[in-house]
Amino acid sequence: MKLKFDFSLEGTNAMRRSLSLLLLACLLLTACAAGAESGEEGLRVVATDFPCYDLARQALGGEENLTLLIRPGMDAHTYEPTPADAKAVYEADVLLYIGGASDAWVEDMLLDAPDVAAVRLMDSVQPLEEEHAEHGHEDVSYDEHIWTSPVNMRAMLKSVEEALCAADPQNADTYHSNAAAYDAQLAGLDQTFRDLVSGAARTELVFADRFPFLYFAREYGLSYRSAFSGCSEEAQPSVQAVASLIDAVEQDGVPVIYVIELSTRDVANAVAEQTGAEIVEMHSCQSLTGEEFEAGETYLSLMTRNVEALRKGLY
Ligand SMILES: [Zn+2]
Repeated sequence: MKLKFDFSLEGTNAMRRSLSLLLLACLLLTACAAGAESGEEGLRVVATDFPCYDLARQALGGEENLTLLIRPGMDAHTYEPTPADAKAVYEADVLLYIGGASDAWVEDMLLDAPDVAAVRLMDSVQPLEEEHAEHGHEDVSYDEHIWTSPVNMRAMLKSVEEALCAADPQNADTYHSNAAAYDAQLAGLDQTFRDLVSGAARTELVFADRFPFLYFAREYGLSYRSAFSGCSEEAQPSVQAVASLIDAVEQDGVPVIYVIELSTRDVANAVAEQTGAEIVEMHSCQSLTGEEFEAGETYLSLMTRNVEALRKGLY
């Protein structure tokens, strides 16, 4: 069996950190040169990634004055901030970020932006430890994909609502009612997943890919296997990991193997070729394509797709 992989993942946290510091230097120069404050045209909210953006868009009731830093089409895990990002953070009233590995760079920027109300959404939920396939990882790190559980998304929404109300009390009523409406939709989504899983013939997910669905799987009592642990930056899974996926699919008669968005599908194609399993996408809502973003996809619309994806695999 010949496998070809190209996840094109490179860059270390240390590299990102030094880059961020460089960007800060650029930012200070730019800020001094620009001098003037941008006008008071409502609350300026900045979100690092799509889940944060989605929450802000819903609670604000629109996208005006809302900036998404990790742009559509980019892999959140390898994203590197631009000087424009630093400027946006510096000028923001409210900054929403997850506080995981993918947006760790924002904390460096915040050191020089003391007036920004920064909300680390990881603090709104019970974080789960990252699972490592390899041994030798002594330090505990937490899985950043907290939003994959709609229950967590509701808790995150509460934090966003509170931050917006505190920063802009005049419009608090609007934020409260927007958030309440969205919360009801998230509660409905949660119930849909519960009903789906409770009536399912299977409870095992096989991801021939990275696995950002730890919070989702734990929430709904699903077991899982994956080619990579978490959103590992490793370029290739071990041959052993792929072989054990193939064994599991064959032994358990698993009809569907999952990939995540922006996947190369190399592992999945190899597993599908060996087993005849169907490849289906589960969208983690972390990295959207430009088309998805332009089409106005939301967390709810993508998760509703996941309901159908899950039905294919579990029934
Ligand atoms: Zn991820």
